[in-house]
Amino acid sequence: MLAIAALKDLLSEPKQIVITTHHKPDGDAMGSSLGLFNYLVQKGHHVRLITPSDYPIFLHWLPNNLEVIVYPEKPEESKEYIANADFIFCLDFNALARIYEMGELVRQSKAKKVMIDHHLEPEDFDDYRHWSINACATAQLVYDFIVTKMGEGHLINKDVATCLYTGIMTDSGSFRFPSTTAEVHHIVADLISRGAENWRIHQLIYDNFSESRLKFLGYCLLNKLEVFPEYKTAIISVSKQELEQFNIITGDTEGLVNYALSINGIRLAALIVERKNEVKLSLRSTGDFPANEICKKYFQGGGHRNAAGGNSEKALAEVISQFKTILSEYKNLLIL
Ligand code: 5GP
Ligand code: MN
Repeated sequence: MLAIAALKDLLSEPKQIVITTHHKPDGDAMGSSLGLFNYLVQKGHHVRLITPSDYPIFLHWLPNNLEVIVYPEKPEESKEYIANADFIFCLDFNALARIYEMGELVRQSKAKKVMIDHHLEPEDFDDYRHWSINACATAQLVYDFIVTKMGEGHLINKDVATCLYTGIMTDSGSFRFPSTTAEVHHIVADLISRGAENWRIHQLIYDNFSESRLKFLGYCLLNKLEVFPEYKTAIISVSKQELEQFNIITGDTEGLVNYALSINGIRLAALIVERKNEVKLSLRSTGDFPANEICKKYFQGGGHRNAAGGNSEKALAEVISQFKTILSEYKNLLIL
């Protein structure tokens, strides 16, 4: 592994750069990636931001969103950019499987790979790394990369600040998770002073539901929420047919799992959704309960201790009953 500080000299002249982030990018994935994009273009680099899939419409207002290339929409063009890049920045993920088909293309590219990430147990595919599990968001690490490692805090203009604020806000649960340290608040204050309009960003992300998304939320809370007080666990499960019934699109299920966790006394919440080719699980927990351990052990996934995810090839009903069985294995930890 090479020292990340070496990039200061290497990036002093225009380079071909690709930025990518994880499948179904969330607020931190897009905020950190577009934040880095808006910084690097100011330095005269040729930058392409390629996502392995589409992402929620409530993120499409981010500055320079129109520059984003969605890989499945332009695979040939993307392959060429990846193969010919000097540097590939991998943001908010640390295992190439998280970018699906793009993973092998990135691995095989002659480009130097730069990982900026805050997830546990990074895979060893990168040349340069700026990684910390203590960061509340990858956007926080991008801020630190620009300010401390590159010494270019003055290039954090309104666009960069807006993107990084979005990443930190969404991944810290609007500044309420334990990872929201005093330092995070100092960073956020700096981003606001550099032009991030906090009230507007909150509105664009959180008060931007479609009518069907809100009705779907109501339907799930009334009909699909199962509470298991004996395991301090709550589950919401949704079938493909229900997603179709409410015209659910990418991003519409975001945040749903948090409602299950908000019930008094609940320590573990799961959202289990039947997607096109797989069943996707989103887990949230409080305190020391390791949600990521369940995802890693049973659902070929992982994540953070309190926010993790995975998937399964089994049928929805089977996954739900498997999950309930797993709860008994973890009973002692759950009822602590
Ligand atoms: P979400 O529930 O919002 O989809 O994901 C929460 C967190 O779980 C993400 O930040 C990511 O760390 C992790 N995660 C979600 N899905 C997967 C997955 O399929 N594999 C791995 N390794 N981690 C995941
Ligand atoms: Mn993140």
